Amino acid sequence: MRFEGKVAIVTGGASGIGAATTRLLAREGARVMVADLDGDRAWALAAEIGGTAHALDVADRAAVEALVDAAVAAHGGLDILVNNAGIGSFGRTPDMDPAAWERVIAIDLHAVFYACRAALPHLIAGRGAIVNTASISGLAGDYGFGAYAAAKAGLVNYTRTLALDHARDGVRANALCPGLIDTPLTAGAAAVPGLGERWHDAVPMGRAGTAEEMAAAIAFLASDAASYVTGAVLVADGGMTAWTGQPN
Ligand code: NAD
Repeated sequence: MRFEGKVAIVTGGASGIGAATTRLLAREGARVMVADLDGDRAWALAAEIGGTAHALDVADRAAVEALVDAAVAAHGGLDILVNNAGIGSFGRTPDMDPAAWERVIAIDLHAVFYACRAALPHLIAGRGAIVNTASISGLAGDYGFGAYAAAKAGLVNYTRTLALDHARDGVRANALCPGLIDTPLTAGAAAVPGLGERWHDAVPMGRAGTAEEMAAAIAFLASDAASYVTGAVLVADGGMTAWTGQPN
C-alpha cells in the first residue's frame, strides 16, 4: 500500500499504460482521478477502481486547469501527477500536415506544461511527485515520427528542468521512456503483416513490453522508494536503446 492516503491524476488514464497505472496506484491505496479524452472509458475505469474521472482534451489549457481544480475539490489535495496522455502522427516532413504536427506537440508537450503549472502549488504543499511518460523516441530519432520525437525530446528535457526548479520545494519530477509497448496505440501497426515481427526482432528481449510493466516503473518513480530520484530518465525498452543497431 505505497500510495495510502495519496491523491493522483493520471492523464490518458483510460487506456494502455495509463489504465494500468491507474489500476496499480488505486490497488496500492491512491485515490485516482482518471483524466482522458474518452470520458466513457474514463468513468468506467473510475467505477472499477472506486475513483473519479474527468473528460478533457489536455491540449486545452483551461480544461487542464479545471481538471486540477476538480481533483483537489474531490479528494482534498494532489500528491501525484502522471502526465501520460500522448499521440503520434506518422509522416515524413514533406507529407506532414502542419495541423497534425501542431496537435502532437500540443498534446505531448504543451499539455504537460499546462498540467504542471496548475498542479505545482498543490504538489509543493504536499511534497508530491510528477511522472511524465516520454518515449525512447525522445532519446533518438524515429523514422517518420518527427513531431512525436521532437515533442518527447522536449518532454525529457522539460522534466529535468522541472526537477531542478522544484527540488528544494520537495517535489520530484521524473520521466519514463518506454520502448515498444503492447497497447491500443501500437496495435494497428503491430497487426500489419510482417511489421510486428520486425518490431520484435528490433528488441533485444525479443518481445514488446506490457502496459503493466510500464505502470510498475511509473509507480516506482511516484513512490517513496524513489525519494532521492529526481530529474531521472528511466528507460524501459527491453534493451532497444542499448543497441547500436549494427547487425549481430
Ligand atoms: P493509448 O492510446 O492506449 O492510451 C492513450 C490515452 O490517452 C487514450 O486513453 C486516449 O484517449 C488518451 N488521450 C489521447 N489524446 C488525449 C487528449 N488530447 N486529451 C486527453 N486524453 C488523451 O496509448 P499508450 O500506448 O498507453 O500511451 C501512453 C503514453 O505512453 C503516451 O504518452 C505514449 O506516447 C507513450 N508511449 C507509448 C509507447 C507504446 O509503444 N505504446 C511507447 C513509448 C511511449
